[in-house]
Amino acid sequence: MALWCEQAWLTDGWHSHVRLIVENGRISAVETGVSAAHGDERHAIVLPGLPNLHSHAFQRGMAGLAERAGQGGDSFWTWREAMYHFVDRLDPEGLHAIAALAYAEMLESGFTRVGEFHYLHHDVDGQRYDDVAVMAHAIAAAAAETGIGLTMLPVFYAHSGFGGAAPKHGQRRFINDVNGFLTLLEATREAIAGLYDAIVGVAPHSLRAATAEELAAIAAMAAGAPVHIHIAEQIPEVDACVAWSGARPLEWLFDHADVGPDWCLVHATHVTESERRAIVGSGAVVGLCPITEANLGDGLFPAREFFAESGRFGVGSDSNVEIDAAAELRLLEYGQRLAHRGRNLLAGGAGQSTGANLYRGALAGGGQALGRGSTSLAVGAAADIVSLKADDPFFAGRSGDAILDSWIFGGGARLVDCVWRHGIKQVESGRHIARDAIDTRYRAAMRSLFA
Ligand code: ZN
Repeated sequence: MALWCEQAWLTDGWHSHVRLIVENGRISAVETGVSAAHGDERHAIVLPGLPNLHSHAFQRGMAGLAERAGQGGDSFWTWREAMYHFVDRLDPEGLHAIAALAYAEMLESGFTRVGEFHYLHHDVDGQRYDDVAVMAHAIAAAAAETGIGLTMLPVFYAHSGFGGAAPKHGQRRFINDVNGFLTLLEATREAIAGLYDAIVGVAPHSLRAATAEELAAIAAMAAGAPVHIHIAEQIPEVDACVAWSGARPLEWLFDHADVGPDWCLVHATHVTESERRAIVGSGAVVGLCPITEANLGDGLFPAREFFAESGRFGVGSDSNVEIDAAAELRLLEYGQRLAHRGRNLLAGGAGQSTGANLYRGALAGGGQALGRGSTSLAVGAAADIVSLKADDPFFAGRSGDAILDSWIFGGGARLVDCVWRHGIKQVESGRHIARDAIDTRYRAAMRSLFA
């Protein structure tokens, strides 16, 4: 297959009249300043697809169902109760239906790979399924059906609070001990074995859910693959960690774990200057989920300072309350504007494009966190490619970085035209090719869940 692009965003920026030759799912040649050859598929604006480094796919099914005020004030913790209630009824078929919809929507918005932070392991009564990885199979089936790249992150969850507190009833479907987790991890590796370039990392859920000994045991199981952990998302979590250990979550983690470039610190919202510097020094990626963090009222990560220190970051759709790659980057910048009463705070310097700097950073950090390196339109890279609707009047008069700024700040998912994953066109005219079947099954799953 060959794509001819009027403008394409290559590793060193925009080029005109670009041919991308794709063989066996990878880019085998990049030619610039050339005419289209006979048989080339022509597109006007072409970019590499964005990694989505943090998702809980099943939560797409409860989007909009936790927006009604409860008694006595709502927070992350009351949202979590609503989520536990939703989880109580989900079976493998329901998970497959919801994940397939979420992944189709991700591709339609420009995400081409997902880090699935997967913690829903057991049957509704908390017992293991006969096939311990049946829920991982449901995720793998959704990835296979939609074509999205998958970095599977099976979650280790053993406790309900710091210091090894016993798990709660609402958490029974998530719980494993270290040996049980190893069995699950091995079965998960088998579950994704047939998926092109899929990878399995590990995810100790949080410092609330794993003791120091368990954290060390789980991180060792990664064997070089990514290690993801939720950390310092909420002020009550920071306070509880200090009360338990005398240290803040990130402080404690850096004292007790060998955090390096294979780690992804999801959220890291409540971070001090010294903790921030430890993250930058470690080479770990911070997994920012701006839409979910806003939806849950988590707080604001100090991105302006972190960017100035060349910290590594990527973005994730987390709770999937909204799925839109451009919107995650937009809200990341807007949070800083609201906090600091300034503009273009994440542009990386005078004269630089904010959109281009955000996109470049999220490509590199997201790729690192998902264990597959940066997505790029370069020889040897996976052909994970996005084209935008250049004929939309919105793009009139735009070229170069103004395209990225316009997509991110003025348009979003509705401006995505086609998306290729591993060289296969999965989205055409903004719609996933399997959308009809995915929608039908999703509606049926919701009817039975809410019957
Ligand atoms: Zn999460």
